Amino acid sequence: MQASTRISELLGGGSDGWDVFYKARAMIAQGVPVTELTIGEHDIRTAAPILQDMHRAALAGHTGYAAVPGVPALRDAIAARVQARTGVPTRRENVLITPGGQAALYAAHFATCDPGDTALYLDPFYATYPGTIRGVSAKPVAVQTRAEDAFQPRAADIAAQAAGAKTLLINSPNNPTGVVYSRATLEGIAKVCQDHDLWLISDEVYDTQVWEGTHLSPRALPGMAERTMVVGSMSKSHAMTGSRCGWIVAPEAMVTHLINLATHTTYGVPGYIQDAATFALAQGPDFEEEVSAPFRRRRAIAHRVLAEQNTVALVPAQGAMYLMLDIRSTGMTSEAFAYGLLEAHHIAVMPGESFGAAAAGHLRVAMTIEDAAFETALRTLCDFAASCRSDA
Ligand code: PMP
Repeated sequence: MQASTRISELLGGGSDGWDVFYKARAMIAQGVPVTELTIGEHDIRTAAPILQDMHRAALAGHTGYAAVPGVPALRDAIAARVQARTGVPTRRENVLITPGGQAALYAAHFATCDPGDTALYLDPFYATYPGTIRGVSAKPVAVQTRAEDAFQPRAADIAAQAAGAKTLLINSPNNPTGVVYSRATLEGIAKVCQDHDLWLISDEVYDTQVWEGTHLSPRALPGMAERTMVVGSMSKSHAMTGSRCGWIVAPEAMVTHLINLATHTTYGVPGYIQDAATFALAQGPDFEEEVSAPFRRRRAIAHRVLAEQNTVALVPAQGAMYLMLDIRSTGMTSEAFAYGLLEAHHIAVMPGESFGAAAAGHLRVAMTIEDAAFETALRTLCDFAASCRSDA
């Protein structure tokens, strides 16, 4: 029996660029201690009070089918949060709760693209983006951003590929680059969407992790609320990756369609998880700052360590839990560098090319290990880079 073409070709063929990661995992399985700076997951777990609330909700009986669009209290909390951040009137009817941001990304593309439609996304990109687009039988088309622009997209580059496209997917704060899109960048993107009648799918799962500048949701820009679908999640803001709780904020008519999709796919998110998410959001910004504080600290450590050498350059680390390191001065491909570092020092980082051609010559470093170990690993990486220089 054969699987469908759609599912067999979900990954698009070729290497998925995660070979270094798999090798690191294989070494760990053989008992080799590897310092992993690869995965975007906090080194803290979900806070005990959130888990206690989850437990309370489950014991109180919220274990049956929950409302498919999401429980009213959580939809209201998300609507109020998004309204406060964007100034755009937002109601419960604009919100669908999903099993994580990933399911929201899939649903947003399913709701906007027909089979064969072109869906744009920006390179470098979060690893699942092209597969998510292929999963709805649309055609993923990458628009390159440029290292020389510190990966801020150029509106003209997007416009050049926009004719006939249906959607544009953006992500700020950005995984993998750590870049936060400026107001000028987002205004340029908004104009391209309006000129070419594109839906804008705005992945804002890192919106509480901003170290420099401010996060601006494009939904707040004039004329954009009607064509923007915002993807959010409890995963990064509240260290709730395993709870699988995210959302889409979209025009009401679109949410009606999305609820139909949810009814026929996920049938909603567990009620006790949604109750715990409502509780977590009610803890307010101080709690969110506590969750993001380790990354803010490690970013400061990185600035200090990198200032002491001149081989590895840092792409402005404005947000999210990653650093993008420019190792082009070594003359090595990022894959060769990452393999070399893993073999010589048992430190695993992601080659830039895992996230697209635009990140060639760069490494993504996740700031997801304890401070002292992070500092040591970064120093070792810099020393290794210096020893690799052809002019060394
Ligand atoms: N978008 C981006 C940019 C991400 O990095 C991730 C997770 N690493 C997600 C979406 C999905 O997150 P989740 O499904 O846990 O909400």
